[in-house]
Amino acid sequence: MHQGKLIVLSGPSGTGKTTLCRELVKRIPGLVFSISATTRDKRPGERDAYDYYFLTPAEFKRKIKAGEFLEWAKVYSHYYGTIKKPITDNLAKGVSVLLDIDMQGALQVKNKFSQAVLIFILPPSLEELRQRLIRRKRDSLDTIARRMKQIEEEMKYIPQYDQVVTNKDLVNTVKCLQTIIKQRMKTE
Ligand code: 5GP
Repeated sequence: MHQGKLIVLSGPSGTGKTTLCRELVKRIPGLVFSISATTRDKRPGERDAYDYYFLTPAEFKRKIKAGEFLEWAKVYSHYYGTIKKPITDNLAKGVSVLLDIDMQGALQVKNKFSQAVLIFILPPSLEELRQRLIRRKRDSLDTIARRMKQIEEEMKYIPQYDQVVTNKDLVNTVKCLQTIIKQRMKTE
């Protein structure tokens, strides 16, 4: 039996990554979602151990010290990290794992697992993304302006990704990602 694959999705917040991940694990047998740990507050509707493991900063730091993370990063002033054990257990069983993590984390994963496939999700345009974030009403205009600046910075790392996919409409993007991921899961 061969090892599972690590598939990493990154991209600016507001590009629909969360929805894409949920759709992909529903459609691709042998692919599971990696539930990250975070110190940010739970948003309405989010569930512990489903959307994230919600930890206190002290709990998170303890796990850093104990070497429990495959990668971790500070994103928008909160800690986020991928717990190593479920990943290595799944890979050993031949199960592939989908990670929704930021670019700092993605590059750490690629350093440790060179066969990891890094996919960057782009919005149709930066202006459209800004409008989407405003419509979502989750962040203040100041926060949105800060995020847009950070996104421009992050886009400099796109050349380090294996694939770039523009999310123009959900149905087609899911189809396109499904093809890419299934293909990568087949290769040794
Ligand atoms: P949100 O708070 O909106 O769920 O996520 C904010 C950002 O943190 C997103 O870009 C998401 O991809 C990233 N993120 C989520 N989990 C992890 C993780 O385990 N590690 C890293 N490095 N980034 C993460």
